[in-house]
Amino acid sequence: MINLILFGPPGSGKGTQATTIVSKFDLTHISTGDLFRYEIGNDTPLGRKAKEYMNKGSLVPDEVNIGMLENKLNNTPNPHGYIFDGFPRTIAQAEALDKMLEGRGTKVTDLIALDVDDEEIVKRLLERGKTSERPDDQNEEVIRKRIVEYNEKTSPVYEYYDKVGVSKKANGIGDLADVFNRIYDILK
Ligand code: AMP
Repeated sequence: MINLILFGPPGSGKGTQATTIVSKFDLTHISTGDLFRYEIGNDTPLGRKAKEYMNKGSLVPDEVNIGMLENKLNNTPNPHGYIFDGFPRTIAQAEALDKMLEGRGTKVTDLIALDVDDEEIVKRLLERGKTSERPDDQNEEVIRKRIVEYNEKTSPVYEYYDKVGVSKKANGIGDLADVFNRIYDILK
C-alpha cells in the first residue's frame, strides 16, 4: 500500500502530478482544497466557513479539515492507497492523519516535496488565475499570504516526516513528464 503525501507550496504542481500518479499506481487522490471547492460550489455551511479563510489566503482551521478528511477516507476505501494533496498542512493535521492511518493498520509511506521557488510560484498562480476561476489565484497579495502560511505552518510537516525517514525532495521545475519521472523514480 502506498500512502503518499504530495507536498510543496501552492502552485508547485501537486494537483497536476497527482492525476498522473493515481492512474499509474491505482491510488485514490484526496485534495482537501478540491473538497472545500466542492462544498463552496454547493453553498453548504462547511463551504461558507471554508470560503472565509480561503479567499484571504489563510489556512482553514484544523478541526474542519481533519473531520472532512476522515469522512473522505471512510467513504473511499482503497487497498492500494492514497495520495494526499494539500493535507496535512499543519503538525496537528499530520498527527491526526497518522492516528487515522494507524487505526486502519497502515501509515504514511512517502512524502515527496516538490521544490519550486517563490517567484516562480507567484508567476504560475497568477497565470492559472486567468482561467481557473479560483479567487485565491487572482490576487498577488492573497498568493503571497498563502506562501507565508506555507512557510510558517506547513513546511515543518516535512521535518516531522523526515524524522521517520519518509520525506524526500523532487525538483518541481520542468515539464510535466520530467517532474513525473522524478516522482516515479522515488516511488517505484
Ligand atoms: P489548495 O487547493 O490545496 O491550494 O487549497 C486552497 C485553500 O484551501 C488553501 O489556501 C486553504 O485556505 C484551504 N485548505 C486546503 N487544504 C487545507 C488544509 N489541509 N488545511 C488548511 N487549509 C486548507
